[in-house]
Amino acid sequence: MHILVTGAAGFIGSHLVEALINQGNHVEGIDNLSTGKKENLPENFLLHTFSLEEADKLTTLFQKNTYDVVFHLAAQVNVRFSAEDPIADARANILGTLNLLEAMRLGGCKRIIFSSTGGAIYGEKETLPISEKVMPEPYSPYGVAKRSVELYLGAYKQMYDISYVALRYANVYGPRQNPLSEAGVVAIFIYHMLQKKRPTINGDGTQTRDYIYVEDVVRANLAALDNPSLEGIFNIGTGIETSLSTLYEILQHYTGYTEKPYHGPPKKGDLKRNALDATLYQKHTAWKPQISLHEGLQKTVAAFQKDLSKNLSKS
Ligand code: NAD
Repeated sequence: MHILVTGAAGFIGSHLVEALINQGNHVEGIDNLSTGKKENLPENFLLHTFSLEEADKLTTLFQKNTYDVVFHLAAQVNVRFSAEDPIADARANILGTLNLLEAMRLGGCKRIIFSSTGGAIYGEKETLPISEKVMPEPYSPYGVAKRSVELYLGAYKQMYDISYVALRYANVYGPRQNPLSEAGVVAIFIYHMLQKKRPTINGDGTQTRDYIYVEDVVRANLAALDNPSLEGIFNIGTGIETSLSTLYEILQHYTGYTEKPYHGPPKKGDLKRNALDATLYQKHTAWKPQISLHEGLQKTVAAFQKDLSKNLSKS
């Protein structure tokens, strides 16, 4: 199949590109390299380096090429930035996606698999894990933008018969996650621990998240490709809550770091607890998460160790 991946050079996008190529697909990407890196991609990979905000370039691309499916991962992913500059966030995440949908419509492309989010869309809920039946209450412009895109996807299905699957991810972690970003606590902790720098836990460490390994998320995307008649919004998580303190202890075990964390003030607007119920997707596809937290963290630490020693030998 001829497939376009937006956000191809990013953390999740680059793993997806690899898996799609391994399956024998003809894959191209779009990325403006704002957080993504070319080094994440295979050599000779065809990357269109521009922003989704550049509507003309998107339209031209879809006029020149016939894509069977678009995986849409490109996004402004920084929740705090979205609160500081909601307009810039909406430009990238809402208008950028509308540019993409319009280019698809004009170019005759009929299927999109969208990377949505669980935590930022549902907000704080009493009962966990959260199912898709629960009313979304996004608490940040980033969450509002992701929910808006889901609604636009529904409208484009009704109006133009562009079919869609929106996958609401829990907290994704794994190799290539950027440790210098504001999110991605697994990457941040590992990066600090391996360099013997003491990590900071914001708050008391009892806050929980549902951590899912990037390979499981990639397989969830591939399942949407394998089920062309599948349509709708689905949670992608493990359903398991892990506290930040527990995560810290497991990572101490795999990195050999022995110091206790610093405790900073809790981050304003941070969720206290989150976990996603993904049984709906498991009912509709053969997907289920396969990598346990311990296994995933062990693999991630190993990958970060390798990258750090590569960088050290370069310098
Ligand atoms: P990432 O920052 O590594 O990837 C995003 C990619 O999009 C980057 O390569 C970036 O350069 C590119 N990009 C950003 N704005 C763009 C624009 N206007 N035009 C073209 N390219 C642009 O982040 P990620 O963690 O790989 O996230 C991928 C997707 O998954 C995002 O849509 C994100 O919202 C979603 N998601 C991620 C998580 C997580 O835990 N990592 C959780 C829920 C949802």
